[in-house]
Amino acid sequence: MALLNAGRLDPVGGAAPDRRSSTAQGADAAVAVQQAVGQDPYFPANGDPRYRVHRYELTLDYRPGPNRLAGTARINAIAGRAPLTEFQLNLADFKIGRVRVDERQTHYTHRGGRLRVRPAKPVRAGAAFTVEVHWSGNPKPVASPWGGLGWEELTDGALVASQPVGAPSWYPCNDRPADKASYLISVTTPSAYSVVAGGRLLTRTAKASTTTWVYEQSAPTSSYLVGLAIGKYQTVLLGDPGPGGVPQHGHIPAHLLPEFSRDFARQPAMMELFQELFGPYPFEEYAVVVTDEELDVPVEAQGLSLFGANHVDGARGSERLVAHELAHQWFGNSVSIADWRHIWLNEGFAKYAEWLWSERSGGRSAHQLAAAAHRLLSDQPQDLRLADPGRKAMFDDRLYERGGLTLHAIRCALGDEAFFLMLRSWVRLHRGGSVTTPALVSHVSRFADEPADALFEAWVYGGPLPPLPLPGTRTAV
Ligand SMILES: [Zn+2]
Repeated sequence: MALLNAGRLDPVGGAAPDRRSSTAQGADAAVAVQQAVGQDPYFPANGDPRYRVHRYELTLDYRPGPNRLAGTARINAIAGRAPLTEFQLNLADFKIGRVRVDERQTHYTHRGGRLRVRPAKPVRAGAAFTVEVHWSGNPKPVASPWGGLGWEELTDGALVASQPVGAPSWYPCNDRPADKASYLISVTTPSAYSVVAGGRLLTRTAKASTTTWVYEQSAPTSSYLVGLAIGKYQTVLLGDPGPGGVPQHGHIPAHLLPEFSRDFARQPAMMELFQELFGPYPFEEYAVVVTDEELDVPVEAQGLSLFGANHVDGARGSERLVAHELAHQWFGNSVSIADWRHIWLNEGFAKYAEWLWSERSGGRSAHQLAAAAHRLLSDQPQDLRLADPGRKAMFDDRLYERGGLTLHAIRCALGDEAFFLMLRSWVRLHRGGSVTTPALVSHVSRFADEPADALFEAWVYGGPLPPLPLPGTRTAV
């Protein structure tokens, strides 16, 4: 999850204010009916299910001093089952220079974070089309109940952490987690700065005083998971990937290198363990960035995780978070959620991965950690439903703990062998796609000797906390 310099989760934060004008809201009503299917119930203003994007090519120029961003996006998209007379991208309050569809100038309106485009000629049902958008301005985070999301200007650089709806703070996108696309990202910035984005660095070209960094992320990527860090970093290779291994780089302020070297020393072992338990790492490489500022929590992005200076202490004080963010590469990033109601499929799995890492690296066992989580939850309100927690509770600590406990309950019911087969199969079947809670229920039932309906009814669809599950007699991992 993404919380930058915001307070801890605000349980009474309520819904994000609707800052749209009443006219805009009225105009929305007509399309609301059309869009009812596939629109995110938690964030109905974000994303447009009437089309999907398969590639974004973003060309950005960023000046850290004045915090000035100028960008061009070429978006390759495909219309859905109906002709598109208009469609929507999400983009924050920038100056728009030009919008073209299939190389033709087009009408648009830009209000309340929505860029509504009306092509000169409707796009035929199922047809491919290209949108080009030019924009510029001073990027800033999108306001949300969880603090600012998206583009964050740092004292010396910038950072992007968008979960769940911060992506439009820096580029125009069809902002829904299930609309996954490949990305080519080119960033030009003063040469003193490094640019880190998830994916493979294709080229780095220095000109007079600026350098252009071009990254390719070929795996299908949700808009909120496009990460970016611009700062003064030293780059190190973690471990020796060996032939066929996953290259893992760290990008760290030079003065934090000693602490980082100790705190992330076991990440290559984590990578090995998670590949054994979950299947092959889903992307070409993995990078971690440590910013020179504090972050409330680390943030996952595609092929990349971002940590704050407060997450390195030279004593492995945040190692469980190193495991948590790495696990998101499988659960959340490669296997994504169809909409935000299913967020426990990201966070519960990443929480359980923390426990598995502990168990396999000489720490407390998953069962001991599950018992501790169970004690913690016993004293808290029991009105949270994992399957559809509501927008206010989607980052509630209880969702993480109960999500981890639910995985533990499934493991206890299936036994280790079937449980890990089930996990690897889940990751393999849905690689690059998106999933829902009902899909997990039917998937698990294929690996269970007995119906798992009661387990899901109690843990995922029910409110009251079920009793702590007990491991069966089968062999532990
Ligand atoms: Zn997480």
